[in-house]
Amino acid sequence: ELANRMAEKGADLVKALFKMGMPVTLTQSIDQDTAELLVTEFGHNIVRVSDSDIDLVLDTDTDAEDALKPRPPVVTIMGHVDHGKTSLLDALRGTDVVRGEAGGITQHIGAYQVTLKDKSKITFLDTPGHEAFSEMRARGANVTDIVVLVVAADDGLMPQTIEAINHTKAAGVPMIVAINKIDKPEANAQKVRERLLEHDVQVEAMGGETQDVEVSALKKTGLDDLIEKIQLQAELSELKANPDRAAEGNVVEAKLDKGRGPVATVLVTRGTLRVGDVFVVGAESGKVRALVDDKGRQIKEAGPSTPVEVLGLSGVPMAGDLLQVVENEARAREVAEYRASVIQQKRTTSSPASLESMFSALKEKQAMEYPLVVKADTQGTVEAIVAAINKISTDDIKARVLHAGVGGITESDVNAAAASGAPIIGFNVRPNAKAREIADRHKVAFKYYDVIYELTDEIRAGMAGQLGPEA
Ligand code: GDP
Repeated sequence: ELANRMAEKGADLVKALFKMGMPVTLTQSIDQDTAELLVTEFGHNIVRVSDSDIDLVLDTDTDAEDALKPRPPVVTIMGHVDHGKTSLLDALRGTDVVRGEAGGITQHIGAYQVTLKDKSKITFLDTPGHEAFSEMRARGANVTDIVVLVVAADDGLMPQTIEAINHTKAAGVPMIVAINKIDKPEANAQKVRERLLEHDVQVEAMGGETQDVEVSALKKTGLDDLIEKIQLQAELSELKANPDRAAEGNVVEAKLDKGRGPVATVLVTRGTLRVGDVFVVGAESGKVRALVDDKGRQIKEAGPSTPVEVLGLSGVPMAGDLLQVVENEARAREVAEYRASVIQQKRTTSSPASLESMFSALKEKQAMEYPLVVKADTQGTVEAIVAAINKISTDDIKARVLHAGVGGITESDVNAAAASGAPIIGFNVRPNAKAREIADRHKVAFKYYDVIYELTDEIRAGMAGQLGPEA
């Protein structure tokens, strides 16, 4: 597993361990210190995944080379706000030959798949937003094979364009540049190509290797060209997975649905997920009650690179959580409970990891804190809000999210807020009666929003000591 994560050969790790005087086999566990030494030895950065990830991850194996079959590429569209990410996602959705004939209704489940005329498929992550991308990566979920960087030809490179380039580079994912809004009279594609050079992105026309394509999401031009380039890149990347094994996948979006209970959109990474499968996902477990595709159709199974809504979960997992099918329900519950207890423990104990972090913690203590509790309707939104809030801080005051989660505001949220006088942010969610009652008693304030920037604007204002009127 460690070799897998480092993209090294297992045999090489065994050899290196042998040289360190530790004769082990491929499947044997090693302790953390040894693992860290090994990772450094191979020239990689150490990323500690949480303990809750480790227990099951250790069970995973590598698929035999001859079991691997080609799989569709998974594409994420990134770029500056208003450069046309959503429009392009919509336009590309329209290239699906199945969508029309099946009579399915478009469901926004966080990802969708198009089937092209030649029967090949491409999966698109439907959650544009760099935070989601980097958060997922931070949690060890590298779900994207190809990034399409959208740059508006009339606006050129903007801060989030550069941020997207950096994220993509950090992830080591190949990029295709889509120069959008080419229909506009003031469009200047050449200028975009030149400016990209300043950020070490050299497109083919400039003698580099990054593919670029001029498109108009509005007029739907250049889409075939873009798709062809995605296919070409996918071929170069030789994307493969074993479809004939117990399924694994990553959560790209999760929510509490009023009618259906906890629902997670899972992107299957290998194996085939079937109705009736028993699984663990993060600190939750379950048995697949139904699988719903991006066209709203109930399906019986989902293979590699297929995005699918999974019903039958014990609770709402987090975006980036790994779903793994296990042998039986007892095992699933055992693992989920273990993970939940690890998470609980982490909440109650916090140990400074190094002197450096201790000092910065001390320094932060001197700055005033502005505590908040955040509840929102989907896991993706929670993560986006927390990331946005964490960016709001000045030298004197710093916003701090005490507690965040998916779903309506409950009694326990109010209790978490009451202790430190934090307001509760409800994003597309409201408190239940009990929560209202306790909030009244403890003088806890609710603030409701449905637009992120309004929320961040008001928090800024609030931090400046002039809290806006109650919504
Ligand atoms: P996002 O914020 O990156 O998701 O951008 P949107 O897809 O919401 O697009 C922002 C604005 O640009 C909208 O008003 C779109 O209609 C417009 N837009 C998007 N693509 C094109 C295009 O190819 N040409 C023109 N002229 N306008 C576009």
